[in-house]
Amino acid sequence: MRRGLLLILSSPSGAGKSTLARRLMSWDRTIRFSVSATTRQPRPGEEDGREYYFRSREVFETMVKTGEMLEHAEVFGNLYGSPKGPVEAAMKEGRDTLFDIDWQGGQQIRNSSLGRDVVSIFVLPPSIAELESRLRGRAQDSDEVIAGRMAKSRDEISHWAEYDYVIVNRDIDTAFNELTTILQAERLKRDRQPDLSEFVRTLNTEFASR
Ligand code: ADP
Ligand code: 5GP
Repeated sequence: MRRGLLLILSSPSGAGKSTLARRLMSWDRTIRFSVSATTRQPRPGEEDGREYYFRSREVFETMVKTGEMLEHAEVFGNLYGSPKGPVEAAMKEGRDTLFDIDWQGGQQIRNSSLGRDVVSIFVLPPSIAELESRLRGRAQDSDEVIAGRMAKSRDEISHWAEYDYVIVNRDIDTAFNELTTILQAERLKRDRQPDLSEFVRTLNTEFASR
């Protein structure tokens, strides 16, 4: 069985990574989404345990202290982190895990013992004007929150070169196509196909018996 991949998607807020992540999950239902824990308040429509585990700062900090987090970081004044348990379970089953996390989380996982299983993808917006218009169009945050996210975008974008792949999300269908192409190529890497040696042995046996 091959080891599961850790697929990390990062972008400035509003560039489209949640949209891409949702599509990817319905494209391949074996992929597990890493549901993060956060201290931020749920947005309308968000459910505890689906988009995030919404936790108090106190509970979150205990999770960090007891080593339950694979990575964690402060983003926009709230704490966010990826619980370790589900990721380890998915890897054991040979399933890929998808992370929607910021550059700080990406760095921590890449530098962890799981680094060799990481495939990281950065999503860029086609322009800053379009980024702002997508954030406003999402209509989920106040003007103040949107201004804060725009200010943070420059910092997030400055980390683009730390990622294995970069997708510019102009047209969502094209961007999604690019995402699935990356995943398919990474799954085909020789190291990620543990059955290949055995398969080539059977080819050689076939040669020998001709
Ligand atoms: P993120 O998760 O990066 O914060 P979202 O996936 O929530 O971003 O996308 C922000 C908004 O932009 C959403 O309303 C989404 O429907 C829209 N959006 C995403 N990709 C595109 C695209 N290629 N063209 C136009 N709108 C898009
Ligand atoms: P939002 O509040 O819009 O859902 O997310 C804000 C930012 O936090 C996004 O850039 C998102 O990728 C990031 N984020 C979400 N979960 C995690 C996490 O578990 N760890 C880290 N480091 N960042 C996260």
